[in-house]
Amino acid sequence: MSEADLGRINQKSQTFSCPSCGGRMTFDPETQKLKCPYCDSLKAFAVSTRTPNEYDIRYAPPVSDSAWGDETRTVRCNGCGAQIVLTGETTAELCPFCGAPHVLEDQSKAGIAPESLLSFRVTADSARQSFRKWIKGKLFAPSKAKKMAYLGQITGIYLPHWTYDANSTSRYTGRAGHYYYVTVQRVVTGPDGKRRTENVQEQRIRWEPASGVVSEVFDDILIVGSERLSAKLLSSVQPYDLTQLVQYAPEFISGFACEKPAVDVQHGWEKAQQVIDRQMKRLAERDILTHADVADVTGLKTDNEDVRYKLTLLPMYLSSFSFKDKYYHVLINGQTGKANGESPVSPWRVLLAVLLGLALAGAIYYFFIRDNVSLEEGFTYYIGRLSELLKRG
Ligand SMILES: [Zn+2]
Ligand SMILES: [Zn+2]
Repeated sequence: MSEADLGRINQKSQTFSCPSCGGRMTFDPETQKLKCPYCDSLKAFAVSTRTPNEYDIRYAPPVSDSAWGDETRTVRCNGCGAQIVLTGETTAELCPFCGAPHVLEDQSKAGIAPESLLSFRVTADSARQSFRKWIKGKLFAPSKAKKMAYLGQITGIYLPHWTYDANSTSRYTGRAGHYYYVTVQRVVTGPDGKRRTENVQEQRIRWEPASGVVSEVFDDILIVGSERLSAKLLSSVQPYDLTQLVQYAPEFISGFACEKPAVDVQHGWEKAQQVIDRQMKRLAERDILTHADVADVTGLKTDNEDVRYKLTLLPMYLSSFSFKDKYYHVLINGQTGKANGESPVSPWRVLLAVLLGLALAGAIYYFFIRDNVSLEEGFTYYIGRLSELLKRG
């Protein structure tokens, strides 16, 4: 058992009760301390400054169920199957992913413990503000949907991510291409309408086999351990500043929910290998290009050594709303407040925008092009007229 595990077990009896009133304290993003929701008392807690451990993939997974903290429990959603880890009395009446009302206690343990996390920096109130600003900017969303979105609940949830390190070496095979030029004759029609032949230079490629070895050290390849949200939506609210990662402590998740990884450590490693292979292919191409004009890598075999992983939790506010039987997710980055989401599109609003665009194009044609006035002149004139009108008004 590692020192870290021992440390965590010593923390086991820890509770988050308020020293003044006995209420249950939750993590406060503003002060980065525990805060009592009843009397506003604050309580600091020890955060380890030790670099988070990374574990050897050959011995994964180390089953250490207690390490999430003694007070955690897992619930499972009947609707989408998401498994959510909660602390203390925190409850989830509705699933934050699919809105299903049936969230059941799950007997399975929380599994591999998170080694590090990024704490919430954005409060639920400012997350709500970011969210409202975002939905206001959705010009094509029907106003009824906007109203639904306003009413939706916002849940602060830590999303699981795996990080992988590796020392990778790839043997590649492929071909290297060199440009050369040949003179060919082409029949062209001249301005006088007469056809004649012309000599032109044409580029060709001479290929020769190429092979070699490239290597790279990878640090913290980030793989999402959640499968409920689209990868595109998730990356749209990134980046996270991963230099702010701290050692996991159960205090950080008090009052928040955590999703239990839906992607296990081995499956995550398979995804990380795809990231590695894509990068190694780019390196192999670059290697060929040091002595050729064109590169074509056809075979790649990668050996990954010293592969290490850790589980990391990243903070996200999740809101969702349903509109006409469809479910839409809105995400707010819990570290930066960046918001983005899915929203329905009103065909009427799109039509209106198209008509407005056509009207504008028509006006431009009518005023400027018809009178043979350049666009620049036209706009200068137009803006001059406008400001005159405004002054008079
Ligand atoms: Zn209190
Ligand atoms: Zn669900």
